[in-house]
Amino acid sequence: MASRTKIKEILGTEKSDYEATVKGWVRTFRNNQFIALSDGSTIKTFQVVIDRDNTPEEVIKKISTGAAISATGKVVTSQGGGQKVEMQAESIVVLGVADPEKYPLQPKKHSLEFLREIAHLRFRTNTFGAIFRIRHSVAFAIHKFFNDRGFVYLHTPIITGSDAEGAGEMFQVTTLDLKESPRGEDGEVDFKKDFFNKATNLTVSGQLEAELGALALSDVYTFGPTFRAENSNTSRHLAEFWMIEPEMAFADLNDDMDLAEDLLKYVINYCLENHGDDLEFLEERLITEEKQKPQNERSEMTLRDKLKFCVDNDFQRLTYTEAIEILLRSKPNKKKKFQYVIEEWGADLQSEHERFLVEKHFKKPVILTDYPKEIKAFYMRMNEDGKTVRAMDILFPGIGEIVGGSQREERLDVLKERMAAFDIPEHEMEWFLDTRRFGTCEHAGFGLGFERLVLFITGMGNIRDVIPFPRYPGSAEF
Ligand code: ATP
Ligand code: MN
Repeated sequence: MASRTKIKEILGTEKSDYEATVKGWVRTFRNNQFIALSDGSTIKTFQVVIDRDNTPEEVIKKISTGAAISATGKVVTSQGGGQKVEMQAESIVVLGVADPEKYPLQPKKHSLEFLREIAHLRFRTNTFGAIFRIRHSVAFAIHKFFNDRGFVYLHTPIITGSDAEGAGEMFQVTTLDLKESPRGEDGEVDFKKDFFNKATNLTVSGQLEAELGALALSDVYTFGPTFRAENSNTSRHLAEFWMIEPEMAFADLNDDMDLAEDLLKYVINYCLENHGDDLEFLEERLITEEKQKPQNERSEMTLRDKLKFCVDNDFQRLTYTEAIEILLRSKPNKKKKFQYVIEEWGADLQSEHERFLVEKHFKKPVILTDYPKEIKAFYMRMNEDGKTVRAMDILFPGIGEIVGGSQREERLDVLKERMAAFDIPEHEMEWFLDTRRFGTCEHAGFGLGFERLVLFITGMGNIRDVIPFPRYPGSAEF
């Protein structure tokens, strides 16, 4: 028997009149003769035509939606419309049946909410097949982008002993018995008796460790899971998500913004070039979905037009101060249409404000810089004005913040002052401060939320649908 050929390969060539074996799962079985077969290599199904006279009745009976089969036969030019080539099957083996009475995925439209409940099977739908093929390519393109630019991929710890990252609420890691945890004289839990002889958590960011790497290797990036125990039940937050965090030595905020903009454009373009079929499918899905919405809420551009627009246009760069002026003058602020009305400079921007700037005002991706020091992290470089820091956030249509970054404070004395202002004990951060004591230099980096990027590229509406098994408050299934 010939070795198995993937459906993507068969459909990708004009070749016909040759023997092949395909394996996959039945999507539909029509007239007891036509199988639409999927093996996940492409969004397209391959038509396998059964030789009714030479296929035993008991084999035909076992062919149903969801069953795994192997088919061997001749790939020929298709008689019917809809496909260029099809297989005239000479033999069919049913590898695994799927009882139609019990198989939850019938060939009809299922809601995303229902599919989330059967996330172990949702890979088998067109939508999730497309999403996870694209998710793979986004990851691949990110590694390729950095590799081509000489960045070193650094693995930063997932279990961390540092609690000063301050990026969000942490999940504690312990092997202590919660019912009978050892207590110190003060009655508090004695973490010296815990596995690491100290309290540890799951990381919320690899940035501080990436900085250590950058101040020797010049350009590094991390790409790993991060965990935040924030109780935010939104369509843009997960408790476990993946983050890309590049860090560059001898670089300032402009270099940082250039890197982030180049990276985003590169990855989006990579998907446009390599996932035309998947994007076309997701685009149609979106158009159908948007028909349910009122006219003014529908997007003006199709999914691929939106992605192309992002690749072809410069992101709008402006300072936080300029953004506040725009927001203060804006209609929704004057008419108190925002949930949080902007009163004055210094206000933290909510996603409604970010989305106003991106979707209504500029109508393109926006990079905001130089935020008030009070609403940003301690490690961001202080500006001359003493009021703002060299921070930047990239805001995307439909998503809000997709990237958060900054030039880092490289001056030891200023950094210590900032830590004091945030009540971060110096003795816990000596290792971090050492980089500023020995051979410090200008450096910058950012964090890109992987799932938010996949969300944008696939045009999906909920971040829980772009990660195989989402973790969020109240849910850690599978
Ligand atoms: P937000 O204000 O949206 O909660 P943040 O300010 O907490 O974001 P950062 O700490 O700067 O975000 O993290 C860097 C990036 O990681 C963000 O720009 C975003 O893309 C992503 N991100 C942050 N929190 C989450 C989360 N809970 N789930 C998924 N992605 C996230
Ligand atoms: Mn957050």
